[in-house]
Amino acid sequence: MQVRSGIPVSPGVVVGPALVLGSEDFRIPRHYLSRDAVDVELVRFKTALDSVCRDIEEHEILVGDQLGSQYAAIFSAHLQMARDPRLIKEVESLIRDECCSPEYAVSKTLRRFAEQMQNLGDQYLAERALDIFDLEKRLLRKLLGESREELSNLTQPVIILAHDLTPGETATLNTEFVIGFATEVGGHTSHTAILAGALEIPAVVGLGRYLAGVSGGEMVILDGDHGQVIIDPDEATLARFRDSQARSIRVRERLESLEILDSETQDGQRVQIFGNIEFPEEVHQCMKRGADGVGLYRTEFLYLGGNKEPTEQDHYDAYCQVLKACGDHPVVIRTLDIGADKVPARLRNRFADSQNPMLGLRSIRLSLQSTPLFKVQLRAVLRAAVFGNCRIMFPLVASLLEFRQARMILMDVMEDLEDEGVDFCRDLPIGMMVEVPSAVILAEEFAREVDFFSIGTNDLIQYTLACDRSDPSVANLYRSGDPSILRMIQSVLKAGERHGKSVTVCGQMSSDPRFMPLLLGLGLRQVSATPHAIPRLKEVVRNISIPEAERIAAHACSLDLARDVEHYLLGELGRICPDLVV
Ligand code: PEP
Ligand code: MG
Repeated sequence: MQVRSGIPVSPGVVVGPALVLGSEDFRIPRHYLSRDAVDVELVRFKTALDSVCRDIEEHEILVGDQLGSQYAAIFSAHLQMARDPRLIKEVESLIRDECCSPEYAVSKTLRRFAEQMQNLGDQYLAERALDIFDLEKRLLRKLLGESREELSNLTQPVIILAHDLTPGETATLNTEFVIGFATEVGGHTSHTAILAGALEIPAVVGLGRYLAGVSGGEMVILDGDHGQVIIDPDEATLARFRDSQARSIRVRERLESLEILDSETQDGQRVQIFGNIEFPEEVHQCMKRGADGVGLYRTEFLYLGGNKEPTEQDHYDAYCQVLKACGDHPVVIRTLDIGADKVPARLRNRFADSQNPMLGLRSIRLSLQSTPLFKVQLRAVLRAAVFGNCRIMFPLVASLLEFRQARMILMDVMEDLEDEGVDFCRDLPIGMMVEVPSAVILAEEFAREVDFFSIGTNDLIQYTLACDRSDPSVANLYRSGDPSILRMIQSVLKAGERHGKSVTVCGQMSSDPRFMPLLLGLGLRQVSATPHAIPRLKEVVRNISIPEAERIAAHACSLDLARDVEHYLLGELGRICPDLVV
């Protein structure tokens, strides 16, 4: 049994077989073959092996010619390994006698050989284990090659164990069969983590290196509440987790029943809870859970989900779908936030040279540099806006100039539509995200020009504390409870209040029920959260009064360490809503 701890990013406990995607994204399926398929699969293995041996021979000749025989010897050793009768016998017997797929048989056998070598206590032999992994990769590349099953073509439930999943890959996961995933890298607010919440797939990220010893097919417990992944659990552990799975389902069912109740504090203060969405279909999950509308629609996923550039009509259809589903409720459409970890395959070249993509061409900067791309989206938003209560919001605004330029382009597009005689909405509110420290410092000035603010704590924390939000090695430094973050929120709230502009928090911090009393106590009356978090947030709102929230916020703001703030807030949450502290 192997127990790993990581960062919990999407709640729920699931148990199922592992599907491993290595850092090279090989899928290693352990499906059992039908008896009739065994002969064909044995031939497939032999063909792959022959082809690998030919490749190695070619490399041996090439390297021998160019670098000399001592280097070519590396490949002779690989060849010897690939032709080792014991190894071939073991793989073939797994295929023939146990009806395993050749991919699984190769991976299982070679990893076992590699582990044995690593455990012999000899440095030289331990290093040779790397050659075995290399051989495994070569064979898998051949075997999986063209016939590699796409993740979206799964036919049975699996838990994905991967080095990493890009937001694009995560966006296209087949949620019918992917019941959870765990990655070696990633942080609390990486976009892959956010998507896991959106897709409501239990997930743990930032587990560190652990995939070398896993072949796929092993039973896995994934605990998205506590950030644990257990591979090959024993019976007692399985039973314990099945209990906790049942408990978590009971709590969730009770909370879902809150959807029809008002989001109102004990002293009658109404608190609006909006949903964050990435895909239009998610709007139904928000409304089903009693959301007051959509507070953040991350439209860049139109670019990340598919493999073709979305047209104005694609944008328009998606926005109409969301606006119509929300009726009179507001929908905040955020313009494209492409860049950093959200780069569509077609645009990769454009970002290839960036040494520091989080600080590079991203978000509103990209939109302002790519006006035709930006205008396609703006036309669609303005046209769709006639169907509901639409607001538009610009992301990652760092200077007044950027905000003014973006607004000017929006006005230009309005003029174009007017000239063309196209129906559109002229008076939609224009807001900005506050996710860069400069925007907080200039909140007063911005407040004179914007219609509303939405604080994006995911980026605001990253840029304030200089911590990459996706990097597990600094995850312990990336803290929503940092006093600097509390003060920043306070100062934006004050600027909004002075100028009569509404302020929402839409980063992951607002999906975490621990922070709800604090945010209410600081004066916030609207949040936008991952849809699955809405019932939990409502539970907090309904169990607290504003004076109590103000007392909690005052105490939290008197503490000088993030750790103490978060610990204190957890204790308060346990007192107010014990069910939410699992
Ligand atoms: C944020 O930065 O808090 C935010 C909501 O935007 P995103 O997570 O999409 O960067
Ligand atoms: Mg952001």
